Amino acid sequence: MKRWIRCRGTVSGCVQVAVILTMLAPTYYNSASAQSTRAEQSPLPQSLPPERKRRLQAISQTISNEVPLVIAHRGASGYLPEHTTESAALAHALGADFIEQDVVLSQDGIAVVFHDVTLEKITNVAELFPERRRNNRFYVFDFTLAELRRLNISERFPSPAGSDASQRFPQNTGRFQLSTLEEHLQLIQGLNVSRGRNVGIYVEIKQPKIHRAQNLDPSKEVLRVLHKYGYSHADDRVFVQCFDESEILRLRTELKCQLPLIQLLAEKPSDGHLAQIAKVADGIGVRIAAVVEGVAPDDPEHARVSNVVRTAHQHAMLVHAWTLRMDSLPDYAPNSKTMIDWLVREAGVDGIFTDQPDVLLSWRQSVQATGRLEGPFKLLGKGPSVSD
Ligand code: CA
Repeated sequence: MKRWIRCRGTVSGCVQVAVILTMLAPTYYNSASAQSTRAEQSPLPQSLPPERKRRLQAISQTISNEVPLVIAHRGASGYLPEHTTESAALAHALGADFIEQDVVLSQDGIAVVFHDVTLEKITNVAELFPERRRNNRFYVFDFTLAELRRLNISERFPSPAGSDASQRFPQNTGRFQLSTLEEHLQLIQGLNVSRGRNVGIYVEIKQPKIHRAQNLDPSKEVLRVLHKYGYSHADDRVFVQCFDESEILRLRTELKCQLPLIQLLAEKPSDGHLAQIAKVADGIGVRIAAVVEGVAPDDPEHARVSNVVRTAHQHAMLVHAWTLRMDSLPDYAPNSKTMIDWLVREAGVDGIFTDQPDVLLSWRQSVQATGRLEGPFKLLGKGPSVSD
């Protein structure tokens, strides 16, 4: 049995609720038991533009009982090669709330679900198309969709972020193909019908500037496909994310995107930076290490929490942390349960990208079963602490 499975257990005590949702949404875990207590509502920042407030209300209504939001990172990529439809289907079956799609464009402008703008790390492109090498790389947008479909996708090598390759899906085995964004949406929407669920999609626009140098516009194409499949309002089950801040601004202004936008950040942001981002985005996506920086000094049971979540919440932004890999936890984390406790209860994140959505979901279900809520409610810094 894998290491992180042993770390599971009943979570006693209470769950922290991010005030960003308690302000607006029905009670978290409101069906859990009579012990549930609605947190006192706190006002939104006075300066919050009406448009952002409306979007936040719409978002909170769609995810009111899903804290932390379980976001399947590249599908259930801890168990199957990333971004394959098989991985997405497994994430759906395991109960993820949202499934992530990284998107790049093919030479003929089709949105395909793939993490890198180059192919060589997880496909057999060098074997099939050796003459197409450019700068020692094989770029997705040098290939038509028909050509991309000939590739076989493998588990990532080297294995992701320090995970043990021997515990992941074996590399270079199986028959896995690259698929389009449309195919992923059809799969998820189809499973939503057949399984009676409403799993959301979480699209990342990859490298917009590099694309535009090839006369390709991934943002426009992604929005077109999303609209075609019914994702066009803030209360639809969708997030759009990007690392490029100017592209997030362009999505909101030039492209008039009303979908919830998440600004991805490679580095821990300053307070001033978060204030800037809050003018455009509805939330941020940050590394888990930018939120929980280690163990609290002189108190190994608790985390050393940065001010990122508190500050983001002060600006009424959601915080989604990436990437929780149960088989590759930060050095300071004793086990997955403790790491989740720290991220959710102590730091107050609203959602977590994870390679193993079932483990995070199991944690959440065990907490929901207790039917109790507890602070600290970080947003605005004055929410109540509720416990029995
Ligand atoms: Ca991503």
